Amino acid sequence: MPYPIGSEQRPLRIAIIGSGPAAFYAAGDLLKQTETHVEVDMFDRLPTPYGLVRGGVAPDHQKIKNVTKIYERIALLPHFRFWGNVTFGRDIQREEVLAHFDRIIYAVGAKSDRQMGIPGEDLAGSYSATEFVGWYNGHPDYLDLSFDLSVEKVAIIGMGNVAIDVARVLAKTPKELANTDIADYALETLKQSRLQDIYVIARRGPVQAAFTPPEVREMLELEQTVAMVNPAALKLDNASQRILDQTKHRDIVRNVEILQRMAQNTDHEKPRRLHFMFEYSPLELYEAKGAVCGIKLVKNKLVETEDGRIKAEATDQFEELPVGLVFRSIGYKGVALPGVPFDEKNGIIPNHEGRVIDLKTGIVHPREYVVGWAKRGPTGVIGTNKPDSLETARLLLKDYQAQKTETAEPLKPETVETWLKSKNIDFVTFAGWKKLDQFEMEEGARKGKPRQKITTIEAMLKIIN
Ligand code: NAP
Repeated sequence: MPYPIGSEQRPLRIAIIGSGPAAFYAAGDLLKQTETHVEVDMFDRLPTPYGLVRGGVAPDHQKIKNVTKIYERIALLPHFRFWGNVTFGRDIQREEVLAHFDRIIYAVGAKSDRQMGIPGEDLAGSYSATEFVGWYNGHPDYLDLSFDLSVEKVAIIGMGNVAIDVARVLAKTPKELANTDIADYALETLKQSRLQDIYVIARRGPVQAAFTPPEVREMLELEQTVAMVNPAALKLDNASQRILDQTKHRDIVRNVEILQRMAQNTDHEKPRRLHFMFEYSPLELYEAKGAVCGIKLVKNKLVETEDGRIKAEATDQFEELPVGLVFRSIGYKGVALPGVPFDEKNGIIPNHEGRVIDLKTGIVHPREYVVGWAKRGPTGVIGTNKPDSLETARLLLKDYQAQKTETAEPLKPETVETWLKSKNIDFVTFAGWKKLDQFEMEEGARKGKPRQKITTIEAMLKIIN
C-alpha cells in the first residue's frame, strides 16, 4: 500500500519560486509545523538568495539586513533545499514543476516599476528608482547602467521610502557611504557627483506622504546636505488638518513634525540641498541634445472624495525645474511569469487570500499559491510579509488536509539535483551561496566594509564552483 502523502515516507513536496522575505517566511512556517511532513525546494533565478534584502534594501541600512540570519536558520533546516541560478519559465517550466511537486508557491515579488505616462519619460536621463536602486546595490540585472551625476539638479517623483532611499544615497558624502556594501562602481560615480539640488516631489501633501518617520528623520542628519521644506507647503487644507488632528497613526503626526523641523532649518551653509515639494505632479520632461534637461510640473490642490480619500487635482499653475536627471519612484510593479495567471492592471498574480485564481473565471488553480508583493502588490516593509506568508502557508495546509491532491510523479528530495543536472543547469545550492557569502564578507572585512559584493553571475559562479 502506498504511503499516505504528508507522511515522512511520502512528504508533501512544495516548490517555492523566489527566495526573498515572503518566500522564507512561507518556508519557515511550513517546515516548523509538525502535522504534515513537508519538503521545501526553493528556486531563485540569481545565485544569491534573499531578494530585495540583498538587492533593494539601501546599503547604508545594514541593520535591516540582519533579518537574513532568520532566513539562514530556515535554510539550514533538514527538509529545505535552495537552488539558485535557476530561472522559472526558462530553465524550469510551470508544467514540469507541477508534475514534480505537489504544490507551488510563487514568491517572485514585483520586479518592474510603474510608469508616469508623460511625454519625455523615455529620454536618456529619465530612470526608474528600481534601476538606480538595483545599480547601487550591485544587482546583476543593472550593471550596464550608468548615471550622469555631473548634472547639478535631479528630480525624484514620489514620496515613499524608496524615493527617500534614492535621495539619501544621492545626498550622502562618499565618506558616509564608504563603510557600506554599496557597489564599488556606484561609489566611484557618486564620488564624482556635482549635484547641488535634489527635489523630492509628492503629488499630495505632507499628511499623505508615504515615507515613514525613521527614514525621513535621517534627512536631518546628513553631512553635506540640508533638507528643506517651504513653510507654506505645511499649511494644510482643512481635510488634511482634520486627519492630522484625529489620526491614530502616530507615523503621520511624526512625519509632519519632522517636516516642520526641516521648514525651520536655517542651516543653509551646506553645499547640497534636498527640497521636499508637495502638491505637484509631473507633466512633461524636456529634452536637449537627446537627454532630459528639465521637468514641467503642475501645482495640485487637494480635494476630499465622497469616501473620505484625499486626492490631488491639477490647477492652472505650473512650475519648471531645470533638472538633468529624473527618477520616478511611484511604486514597483509585478511581471508575468510564463504560464501563470497575471493581473496586468495591478501587476500581481490574481489570487484569493493566496490561492492562485484564473483572472477571468475566478476559478482556483488548486495546487498553486502566491505570497508577498506578487500576491498583494508592492506595499509594506519586510516584516509585513510574515503574516502575509503565514496566511498562504496555513491555507495551503488546510486545503491539502481537505483535499489531498497530489502530483502523479513527485521528485524525491534527493532527485531534484539529478533533475536539474539533466537539464544542464549550473545551479547553486545553499552551501554554494555560503561559500560566496563568506568570500564577500572576508573581502569586505579587509576593506573595512560589511561586505564586498560580487556583482556578475559569472564571477559569482567562479567563486562558488
Ligand atoms: P510607496 O510607498 O507606495 O510610495 C509611492 C509614492 O509614489 C507615493 O508617494 C505615491 O503618492 C506616489 N505616486 C504614485 N503614483 C504616482 C503618480 N502617478 N504621480 C506621482 N506620484 C505618484 O512605494 P515605494 O516607495 O516604492 O515603496 C514600496 C514599499 O517598500 C513601501 O511599503 C515602503 O514603505 C517599502 N520600503 C521600505 C523601506 C524601509 O523600511 N526603509 C525602504 C524602501 C521601501 P500617492 O500617495 O499620492 O499615491
